[in-house]
Amino acid sequence: MRAPAAYPSTPTRTPTAEQTPPPPPARLLFRRPRPLAATGRCLCGHIRFRLFDRLPPVGFCHCSQCRRASGTGSNAVLNVRQDRFEWVGGEEQLRRFETATGWSHTFCGGCGCPMPQPTPDGGRMFVPAGALDGHPQLGIAGHIFVGDKPDWVMICDDAPRFDGHVEGAG
Ligand SMILES: [Zn+2]
Ligand SMILES: [Zn+2]
Repeated sequence: MRAPAAYPSTPTRTPTAEQTPPPPPARLLFRRPRPLAATGRCLCGHIRFRLFDRLPPVGFCHCSQCRRASGTGSNAVLNVRQDRFEWVGGEEQLRRFETATGWSHTFCGGCGCPMPQPTPDGGRMFVPAGALDGHPQLGIAGHIFVGDKPDWVMICDDAPRFDGHVEGAG
């Protein structure tokens, strides 16, 4: 496009070092991207999420609700800081079941896969360890409601065990 007549057109010059764009403002330089710690998804792949910075250890709850929701001897969840969790897509397909006592279970409405849900106080997320992609290295935080565990469930680690609930655990 030609410059309007009111503005004298600048002569064409070959680019020089003086013409390179200025560096971005300093505040942009300090906003480094958070390191991705893990990605996860449901069975059908519609719901996807990701975790940043670092992965907390996995905790197991052996209560009867968590056994039924998982179909096995316990659940297996990471208690993740809310600011280290992000949905990538598909949240509209999340479904939630809640008992009269307030225990709740979140899953994909398409495939039934257990999915992350906020902790009761809303400050953190319970993230099902089995929904993570690949084989992330995870420590073991411990086991709760071991008193409800049936005999056929074997615990084969040295992590702490509690007969009932522990504050902040799943
Ligand atoms: Zn799904
Ligand atoms: Zn439980």
